[in-house]
Amino acid sequence: MQSDWSIDVPNLGEVIFRQELLKSLAKFRQLDACDKESGGVLIGKYLNSGGAMQIDDFTPPQPTDKQSRCGFYRSATHNRIVTQAWRESEGHATYVGLWHTHPESNPNYSLLDRRDWEKALKESRYEGQHLFFIIVGQQSLRCWVGVNSKKETKISLIGERHFGK
Ligand SMILES: [Zn+2]
Repeated sequence: MQSDWSIDVPNLGEVIFRQELLKSLAKFRQLDACDKESGGVLIGKYLNSGGAMQIDDFTPPQPTDKQSRCGFYRSATHNRIVTQAWRESEGHATYVGLWHTHPESNPNYSLLDRRDWEKALKESRYEGQHLFFIIVGQQSLRCWVGVNSKKETKISLIGERHFGK
């Protein structure tokens, strides 16, 4: 994770994941047998120039969450933190997606994850039509983009980034 991660997202433009964010998420990798799943929300900003969006912040696990080896329940505290970040940045920093960890090398989403993401796309409040979903695996993290249109939601893998030694 030596640099920012830039992905060209169809119908949106260049989305930049800041290096510091990726480094911070990597710290939650489930490398030991007893490490539990972690998760939270992604916070970013829509840009007027130099790309479409920058994703540079996140919420870490909260005491009100429920964490287990293969499960993570995200409590409402995350929403409150995002609202606070939104206020403090005068409306620039906003909720742009979700992240969580998996105890597998190269992560894939579960049926439950998919339902959670679709629910987020349909029911949560956010700017625009896109949300990003990161799963942090042991050797790489993967990112999916979800698009909400009038009739359906579409979720597609947009990138994978391997962790260095
Ligand atoms: Zn999952």
